[in-house]
Amino acid sequence: MIIIDSPKALQAHLSIQKKAGKRLGFVPTMGALHEGHLTLVRRAKKENDLVIVSIFVNPTQFGPKEDFKKYPRTLEADLKQLEQCKTDIVFTPSAEAIYSSAEVMTLDIPNLTKKLCGKSRPNHFKGVLIVVNKLLQIIQPDRAYFGEKDFQQLALITHMAKNLFMPTEIIGCACVREPDGLALSSRNRYLTTSERKIAPILYQSLQKIKSAFTHGETDCKTLKKIALATLKTQAQIKLDYIEIIDPLTLASKKRAAEGDRVLIAAYLAKTRLIDNIALR
Ligand code: AMP
Repeated sequence: MIIIDSPKALQAHLSIQKKAGKRLGFVPTMGALHEGHLTLVRRAKKENDLVIVSIFVNPTQFGPKEDFKKYPRTLEADLKQLEQCKTDIVFTPSAEAIYSSAEVMTLDIPNLTKKLCGKSRPNHFKGVLIVVNKLLQIIQPDRAYFGEKDFQQLALITHMAKNLFMPTEIIGCACVREPDGLALSSRNRYLTTSERKIAPILYQSLQKIKSAFTHGETDCKTLKKIALATLKTQAQIKLDYIEIIDPLTLASKKRAAEGDRVLIAAYLAKTRLIDNIALR
């Protein structure tokens, strides 16, 4: 496994590999790796000749009052786990290297970035789009892997790649969960022992919606009420939103249909948790 922090050096290395006919799989991360990330890496390893994982805590996707400074940084442990997964290259650029240009460039898909999580995190997805674009430009992988855990992010990146005629195939991977249903997240480290016990309630409320849908309920207002009744049993949970959406357009639905997605975001004390589930 080699570790490279310079974009230029990475490009020089990859151009040799590409000339040798190697297919590149890419997994972008912000580090503090867990089994969710590693599942993406293992899949990339299976489907490509070379796997590149980036570790970059991207400043532009954090709001001024968000957790950029305290976001967990666990490089040594991350490298160990990546080595065990037989990662070929780890890309660890500095913020200066990624945002070196004097001119700031933005990228947006306003119809999609402003809704759902975008409402309470106004510039978050613009930051995600620009950094993922930069990373894809540097690496130009054959395939890039993203988790369905961050469903809105995956939808946006899929739209961006299509819109910009990118040659990279964007691949979505199922969410990896704890045995009690909690979606794995680097931010779960923020939870106290008692908060950790409450956290699976997001998934439980999604399951309640799914179960009602499977039993024939399709009215989205009714379905949301069912989830709210579960969430209300925990006073510490402050709901941000719960929406039933079309998975491609992210448009809110009035009547749920097979394949729609239920997205939820809630605060548990200071930690913002997100989750989602497919209705099928
Ligand atoms: P992050 O380090 O949080 O930016 O995540 C890097 C990638 O890992 C993103 O594509 C995430 O969607 C994905 N990811 C994070 N948590 C999970 C999970 N529990 N299951 C599957 N993928 C995940």
